[in-house]
Amino acid sequence: MEKAKATDEKIKNKTSGKLAGVVIAIKDNICYKGHQLSGSSKILEGFESLFSATVVERLLAEDAIIIGRTNCDEFAMGSSTESSAFGNTLNPHNLKCVPGGSSGGSAVAVAADLCLAALGTDTGGSIRQPASFCGVVGLKPTYARVSRYGAIAYASSFDQIGPITKNIDDAAIIMEVISGKDEYDSTVSSKPVPAYSKELNSKSQKLRIAYLKDCLESTGLDSEIKTRINEIINKLRAEGHTVEAVDFPYLDYLVPTYYLLTTAESSSNLSRYDGVHYGYRSDNSTDLESVYKKSRTEGFGTEVKRRIMLGTFVLSSGYYDAYYSKAQRVRRILQNKTNEILADYDFIILPTTPGTAFEFGQKSADPITMYLEDIYTVQANIAGLPAISLPMGKHSNGLPFGVQLISKSFSEANLLSFSKYLMDKF
Ligand code: GLN
Repeated sequence: MEKAKATDEKIKNKTSGKLAGVVIAIKDNICYKGHQLSGSSKILEGFESLFSATVVERLLAEDAIIIGRTNCDEFAMGSSTESSAFGNTLNPHNLKCVPGGSSGGSAVAVAADLCLAALGTDTGGSIRQPASFCGVVGLKPTYARVSRYGAIAYASSFDQIGPITKNIDDAAIIMEVISGKDEYDSTVSSKPVPAYSKELNSKSQKLRIAYLKDCLESTGLDSEIKTRINEIINKLRAEGHTVEAVDFPYLDYLVPTYYLLTTAESSSNLSRYDGVHYGYRSDNSTDLESVYKKSRTEGFGTEVKRRIMLGTFVLSSGYYDAYYSKAQRVRRILQNKTNEILADYDFIILPTTPGTAFEFGQKSADPITMYLEDIYTVQANIAGLPAISLPMGKHSNGLPFGVQLISKSFSEANLLSFSKYLMDKF
């Protein structure tokens, strides 16, 4: 309320920023100085951020109001927000269903009008999949477009921060504010940031759009989602755009490649939570080794432990070549093949998720089933490309679902324009 009053003054004096008074929630893995941060993990219980993430600094500099942190899967590992130490976040469209994950709380906060926009992070779909399940827009920017300084690292060569919003204009203006060079994150590109919100022109230009036959024909895809994508494809053709099927016979490699590489990176990133430097320390420890063991055993949840063990295994000297370095080579092939398609086409259209939001407990007992949720979203992260989920589907079960677009590296301006056109006209 204080911030709002101060912002009112600024508005009166015409000194307010681009996001004056815009209420924004942030995922519980993005630092906000002086506020608690936990990655929804017990191991960071009571931890307070000592500095703000670059994205938070930039939002505040434009007079946004950060309203709170939102629930997520522990350390952003999951597709349902069920692995949070805080318990479940409910899907506002059906309270028996998960909101998706890992940025489930952010998507729900926007869908339920608790804020105007939220930030999430997306390592393998964590912005787009909950956006799809909750009927909102979720954008994962190009890798290196947005600074990750102050975001809790999960898998550093995949992670990106991005907006979850109700519409494209809001996503565009937030992208414009948070993107660009940052001296605290050397991986961020120094490419100039376009004024995304001003470049949202409904294109009259005819575009070339690819769809992956293998995606649309995969057996796990819900038939109503498939029908809706086909309907959009036909409408695009009727509007004079070129929409063609392309081969991408690598669908089966996406999820395994993603899980080998991200678990490897996370096992390394999560080694910093040791009961000494941060957060939770076990009361039952008796010496240095037991501080590590007991704090990590008691502090981490099951899914996080599973991934640390898998990641440590694939990086171990005997298996490194067989798993980790092989997965790196496969990643390069997947990246090249995806870029080859995008050399020929402006966008790839595909589902965001194989189905709509599922019920609590339905997939949490079987990690493989849960991992397969990510089949359509991980491609963009593996290739480092921008991708968006648009709330353009309504299932007969009453739940929303998203339609996904992937575009060329650093082509967020085109991606947002085309998204706006699709959402307005389709
Ligand atoms: N569901 C994916 C995973 O569990 C994606 C998570 C994410 O993007 N942070 O790894």
